Amino acid sequence: MFKKAASIFLAGVLLAASAGCSSGKDESEKVEVVTTYSIIYDLVKNVGGDKVDVHSMVPIGSNPHEYDPLPEDVLKTTDADVVFYNGLNLEEGNSWFKKLLKTADKDGKDAPVYRVSEGVKAIHLESKGLEKEPDPHAWMNINNGIIYVENIRDALIKEDPDNKKYYEQNAEKYISELKELHDETLSEIAKIPEEKRVLITSEGAFKYFGEAYNMNTAYVWEINSENQGTPQQIKSLVDFIKQGNVSALFVETSVDPRSMETVSKETGVPIKGKVFTDSLGKPGEDGDSYKEMMEWNTKTVIEGIQ
Ligand SMILES: [Zn+2]
Repeated sequence: MFKKAASIFLAGVLLAASAGCSSGKDESEKVEVVTTYSIIYDLVKNVGGDKVDVHSMVPIGSNPHEYDPLPEDVLKTTDADVVFYNGLNLEEGNSWFKKLLKTADKDGKDAPVYRVSEGVKAIHLESKGLEKEPDPHAWMNINNGIIYVENIRDALIKEDPDNKKYYEQNAEKYISELKELHDETLSEIAKIPEEKRVLITSEGAFKYFGEAYNMNTAYVWEINSENQGTPQQIKSLVDFIKQGNVSALFVETSVDPRSMETVSKETGVPIKGKVFTDSLGKPGEDGDSYKEMMEWNTKTVIEGIQ
């Protein structure tokens, strides 16, 4: 949250900081990029390689629905040549991203701020009163991840046309890897008997995944920016599980696990592993890239359900 006095104070810091930055020759050779969270960070690194310097704001293990930007985030966003965000109702929980752009003077029409989900076919929320809002988790379908990469490629070319070839080549190679991963995911999930294909998580972040790879999904709460794990939400999932053919529960790395632990106790169905949705894993650990996280999820779900 930015109060008026804080903004004025920060503006002073920013002036001082950007005056210092622009004299550093080495730094200015790279395209300065800011991303809202770790998954976009990884996609940008794959396309931008060593031509970009990327700062990701929401820390690993937290979810980007709500966030309070740090002074460093404001500085980096102000200085950024390009800013990438997911959109589709993701960075909306406390309007943090909108406020940040305003504070960083990047809310103008011509600001180099790009929505990576541009062109994705949105799935809408289903909770009462939220039906008009898109579900943000489009990257959980790898084909949408490819659209993200294409948008990132085009934005980097627009902002840094001298390196057009480099970005095109990186994107082409990465997209072909993602296409392969999409096909593998489809054929792996198809090995689960159809009646057992139910994926249960805390947040309803697997709608796009379920649609793309033919799995039913259920959840305690639908989106992290709303109420999480109310007794009613838990009861309704417990009732669903008791009716059906459910052998495994899963819990995301970026949520409080206690609701799912309660569901597990109430139903006797075990939690069979962690999955990645709104955040990558820590560098060097499981799921530390978009490809790794998607592979991990598929493997964990298949092993957990069978
Ligand atoms: Zn989420």
